[in-house]
Amino acid sequence: MGALAEIVKRSRRIVAFTGAGVSTLSGIRDFRGKNGVYRQLWHGYQVEEILSLDCFRSQPELFYEWAKEFVYSLDDYRPGAMHTALAHLESVGKLPLGIYTQNIDLLHQRAGSRQVYEIHGSPAQHHCLRCRTALPYAEVAPTVMAGKVPRCPKCGGLIKPDIVFYGENLDEDLLQRGFAAFGGADLALVMGSSLTVYPAAALPEAAARNGVPTVIINEQPTHLDDLAVLRIESLEEAAKELAGC
Ligand code: ZN
Repeated sequence: MGALAEIVKRSRRIVAFTGAGVSTLSGIRDFRGKNGVYRQLWHGYQVEEILSLDCFRSQPELFYEWAKEFVYSLDDYRPGAMHTALAHLESVGKLPLGIYTQNIDLLHQRAGSRQVYEIHGSPAQHHCLRCRTALPYAEVAPTVMAGKVPRCPKCGGLIKPDIVFYGENLDEDLLQRGFAAFGGADLALVMGSSLTVYPAAALPEAAARNGVPTVIINEQPTHLDDLAVLRIESLEEAAKELAGC
């Protein structure tokens, strides 16, 4: 049995933190990795600009054109080995505190995980900025893929995905729940994230600094590596071990 499987075997209250690296196994490009989307300009725009609330209000067509590839093509992707492994851990009762993810690709849910907390929001739901009418992904995606900006069927207002844009706050209740989970777990599995984006990265930090055993699974080093009880580079290898737990 590998070191990871051994730690998981003796733990009961596990919590997981996932970032883009988990989804690169599904072929989705890492926003902040070596070839990440954030390093490149898209038609002369920084992604931070495209995802800013001000820019969205003034030029929604810019976001929706970008999002054709990065948000509304999710049917092209399947859950990867780590999504599946985490869904398995939950199904055998090992992951009672759930998964806190930075990802907005819905792949944990598609793999069968039920307790998924999306720190940066989710395109599963959309709202009209004027009257708050809700629209699900399935209703919005065809409009976007046809090259149109989705409008509210009731009032004609602009439809925005429930993704947290720059200039918006994270869900405070979700963060508080996350701090309690990471502070109270008996094992934190932290994976596929460079841990550079705050406040999301404060969650695994809370675990490591509170003495909760923390496993870091990431290709590149992170600033929490020194506090980790175990450090694994390959997500694929780690997923194999977890799938056997
Ligand atoms: Zn409306």
